[in-house]
Amino acid sequence: MAVKIEDIRVICTAPEGINLVVIKVETNQPGLYGLGCGTFAYRHLIVKQIVEEYLKPLLVGRDAENIEGLWQLMHQNAYWRNGPAENNAISGVDMALWDIKGKMAGMPCYQLFGGKCREGIPVYRHAEGSDLSELCENIEKFREMGITHLRCQCGGYGGGCYGEAPATAPAGSPGGVYLDSRRYIRDTVKLFEGIRSRIGYEMALVHDVHERIAPIEALRLAKELEPFDLFFLEDPVPLEQIDWLKILRGQTSIPIAQGELFNNPAEWKRLISERLIDFIRVHISQIGGITPARKLQIFAEQFGVRTAWHGPGDMSPLAHAANIHVDLAAPNFGVQEWSGIEPPNFVIQDLKGPHGALLEVFPGLPEYRDGYVYANDKPGLGVDLDEKEAAKYPCENTVTLWTQTRLRDGGLQTP
Ligand code: MG
Repeated sequence: MAVKIEDIRVICTAPEGINLVVIKVETNQPGLYGLGCGTFAYRHLIVKQIVEEYLKPLLVGRDAENIEGLWQLMHQNAYWRNGPAENNAISGVDMALWDIKGKMAGMPCYQLFGGKCREGIPVYRHAEGSDLSELCENIEKFREMGITHLRCQCGGYGGGCYGEAPATAPAGSPGGVYLDSRRYIRDTVKLFEGIRSRIGYEMALVHDVHERIAPIEALRLAKELEPFDLFFLEDPVPLEQIDWLKILRGQTSIPIAQGELFNNPAEWKRLISERLIDFIRVHISQIGGITPARKLQIFAEQFGVRTAWHGPGDMSPLAHAANIHVDLAAPNFGVQEWSGIEPPNFVIQDLKGPHGALLEVFPGLPEYRDGYVYANDKPGLGVDLDEKEAAKYPCENTVTLWTQTRLRDGGLQTP
């Protein structure tokens, strides 16, 4: 008997204060359903509406097994394609369909992708400190946990956190994350010099520019960081300035990871085919789910580009699981960003403790042990949703502040 889509529901929940969007696809088979992530934390209601008002009427009654066909149908249905809200909505359904497919096969999703290339996934974590000493103390705590790859930042991305306009800004300037790019570059070079002199060269280090400086400044930073053996420099240029990567590539040997804001294959095709980046790090739900992510991973493999999927706190455990399942089966896997167990304002001593709310809402989150993350071997993505628990943590709509990044003169800089 054909497995038909009977209903598609959206469950919004914020167990750790971040708005998460889960899409549940229910079938005509008793107990057979799939779960996917469509989290667009800062626009969650739009995703919910696209799924409920447009994708559900489009898909109910169709065969749940035809993932590729249904993905194309969703992708082309609105005529205009590749928008972030639309892609997240499609992703939620797409992941849920892969979850269903795995449950039907009695296999975890990585088996559907060809099986494992490795048993566990090396992950990188995020270490912060207000100065070199504090950062090195935190690095040491991660090292004790078995972490081998670490992103190191000092005082927020670009060296700034949200606050009132500083005295150096024009009178009457609004609040924001004020950045001084020249000081940031000086401080960052000094920081990495200090880290390497204290901890040596064994640990693989990453630094995230987060698009917060001008492309020519990113080039200077990249060149000056070369002696400190970075695993990669993350998002050195804004989405709108990716043509600069060719210039960056021609002048520095630093490995480049780019792409957590990408939505559209047109944004990554040339970067990969011309080998202008070393790591592609899209946000899987942002490009439309597992189906396009697998195509991207296989495309990148042909050009020697490795994957380093975006894995921040503002995605659900279902998306973290999707990352891990694709990683397990990818020969060109590089490293995985992992913050799946961190609450928004985490403190490091909590990392080994229980993350009660998130784990109760989403039983089955892949587990971190001694430097690696392991998928469980349940069929599908292996992560469930306890709807009663989820309902205890309603989402809130607020004006997002951290994206209001400003230059010294108060003008906006990409966040
Ligand atoms: Mg980043």
